[in-house]
Amino acid sequence: MSGSHLDSVKAGPGINDNGSGSAAILEIALAVSRAQYQPTKHLRFAWWGAEEMGMIGSKNYVNSLSSANRSRIKGYLNFDMIGSPNPGYFVYDDDPTIERTFKDYYATIGVPTEIETEGDGRSDHAPFDNVGIPVGGLFSGADYTKTAAQAAKWGGTSGQRFDRCYHSACDTAANINDTALDRNSDAAAYAVWKLSE
Ligand SMILES: [Zn+2]
Repeated sequence: MSGSHLDSVKAGPGINDNGSGSAAILEIALAVSRAQYQPTKHLRFAWWGAEEMGMIGSKNYVNSLSSANRSRIKGYLNFDMIGSPNPGYFVYDDDPTIERTFKDYYATIGVPTEIETEGDGRSDHAPFDNVGIPVGGLFSGADYTKTAAQAAKWGGTSGQRFDRCYHSACDTAANINDTALDRNSDAAAYAVWKLSE
């Protein structure tokens, strides 16, 4: 299962947070359809409401599942901010198989990754994690500042936040790094394919 939150904060339009993740999984769903991909496992895609108010949509979804239906979800992949304008490449270190699958993809394109710590447990994967469903995800950074070491390996500007427009009025379509969105969308698609074979 893959999910992204579709709402934004009142202060801004929320294009990186989280039009980026929402668009990525929509395109993956369309790609699955175009390819007529018929995986062994079922795929499920979710666009959550009210994440910014405390993950209300995803919590409600998980709470509404019977324990039998919870156990049928073998993994949940979360995509919340994947096109940050001064991007980092962060992978959640939750389920090791999901984490490894993402890292395998970045290795093929020669992009180094780091473990995601900034948003840990603060997005829609948390309700799944709380009931024992394996989770993983990608993140390109928000309020934290890019270090010199990170700028050396990823490009961009050190001493500046990953997303200067985080939760602000300037989180518009201009607030997207196309390369980051493209790489992360491809990594997400790779994981959806690999984990459902
Ligand atoms: Zn978000």
